[in-house]
Amino acid sequence: MADKAKLLEVLGKIIADVNEQKDFLTQLDNVIGDGDHGINLDRGFKAVEKQMPSYADLGVDEILKDVGKQLMKVVGGSSGPLYGQAYKKAGVYLKGKTEITMDDLLAMLDIAIEQIQRLGHAVEGEKTMIDSMIPASKAMKESYAADGDAKKALEAGVAAAEAGIEYTKTIIATKGRASYLGERSLGHQDPGATSFTLMLKAIAELA
Ligand code: ADP
Ligand code: MG
Repeated sequence: MADKAKLLEVLGKIIADVNEQKDFLTQLDNVIGDGDHGINLDRGFKAVEKQMPSYADLGVDEILKDVGKQLMKVVGGSSGPLYGQAYKKAGVYLKGKTEITMDDLLAMLDIAIEQIQRLGHAVEGEKTMIDSMIPASKAMKESYAADGDAKKALEAGVAAAEAGIEYTKTIIATKGRASYLGERSLGHQDPGATSFTLMLKAIAELA
């Protein structure tokens, strides 16, 4: 499904899309958090952009490990360590591989969810990025198992992640800064679920 050139293309799109959506993500975080999610992520992916030339000499595993390292170093907030560790451990999984198959991508998403839950202890229904990640993972696995069509599975994943964003509007935050708001977090979508969906969309569009 994806070789190194494709991975770099997807990373380039995530860098560009995070930059384009920076103000939107920050606005979302302004309403239920501290208004830094877009700024944080954009700072992180700008650091990744700076690293892009050095990726010419690295394998797909080392590239993703470095992305994780940059995000952990530069993003800050809760999302920095969460996304950072997710990318890093997805990179560790890719050791020895030159191609990323749909099965690999599904395994990497499982690893990302596992890392985020290990660090942040959020389960579904707490109004976090997990509310888009787990439904996306389930939808992709189901769709891919049914007919082996990776493109279709990714589209199903994006639809589920988007439904996850809508779901976060209907629930009260019990993890992260938004939890300080209690009932006042109702009606507002979660910034992290939104940024995860942006990343998955970039993968789905280019894969
Ligand atoms: P901070 O909340 O520290 O300012 P960011 O604004 O960068 O960090 O990121 C906020 C997002 O991080 C939230 O919208 C949510 O999706 C995610 N998040 C926060 N805490 C957790 C957690 N414990 N588990 C999973 N995701 C979390
Ligand atoms: Mg914030």
